[in-house]
Amino acid sequence: TNALEIEGLTKTYGDGFQALKGIDLHVREGDFFALLGPNGAGKSTTLGIVCSLVNKTAGKVRVFGHDIDTNLADAKLNLGVVPQEFNFNQFEKVFDIVTTQAGYYGIPLSRASVSAEKYLKKLGLWDKRNTPARMLSGGMKRRLMIARALVHEPKLLILDEPTAGVDIELRRSMWTFLEEMNREGTTIILTTHYLEEAEALCRNIAIIDHGKILKHTSKRELLQQL
Ligand code: ADP
Ligand code: ADP
Repeated sequence: TNALEIEGLTKTYGDGFQALKGIDLHVREGDFFALLGPNGAGKSTTLGIVCSLVNKTAGKVRVFGHDIDTNLADAKLNLGVVPQEFNFNQFEKVFDIVTTQAGYYGIPLSRASVSAEKYLKKLGLWDKRNTPARMLSGGMKRRLMIARALVHEPKLLILDEPTAGVDIELRRSMWTFLEEMNREGTTIILTTHYLEEAEALCRNIAIIDHGKILKHTSKRELLQQL
């Protein structure tokens, strides 16, 4: 099975700018995949379309076989997304932010609470569960975004530049966490403009530039060519 299939994806923004010029991408279930490319290449646009934050112009997107045009609800149940910017309610408490998200998936509060506890503990935020999000450090907010994305136990986790602006220590602990999630079976896709990050974590890599995929390969092959 493929966790994600993207075919012929194009995006022209309202101002006429063509951000994606026909992207094809397949990510297998269980993979740890990096979408690598410079700033402005189209990485966020691609992920924004997959999680339906951005409207596509043309093309097909399937999440575990569920077409986002015809079966968005099922696609979303299989998908957890960590965008770059913090988009939670800064005045809400950490625990509530995570359980509120579960509500959007129709998960009852009892189950949401169990899941919130599990991920807040794994991410070192359990002590902060009753703290309003605005009181957290930047690194804690980033981990909160991850806990919230996982509360419905999606099979595919997508992270947009997860360690941008994060210090070395937190970056390492986030890498360890993601590796563990992947080992336990979660498919992970991240975007990054750091080759080192893709190299440290991922098995397969696509390189995107100017809205086109330049290369779609295993990490090993890519490194042999550098
Ligand atoms: P869509 O066609 O997907 O609805 P729009 O072109 O309407 O997208 O733009 C969505 C939002 O992004 C607008 O609020 C716009 O101001 C903002 N925006 C415009 N240009 C850029 C840019 N280069 N980078 C990021 N955001 C932008
Ligand atoms: P990346 O994530 O690889 O840095 P993006 O997908 O954010 O790239 O952006 C790709 C291109 O699309 C950039 O040139 C960016 O300025 C442009 N862009 C992004 N959002 C918008 C928008 N809403 N309206 C117009 N142009 C945009």
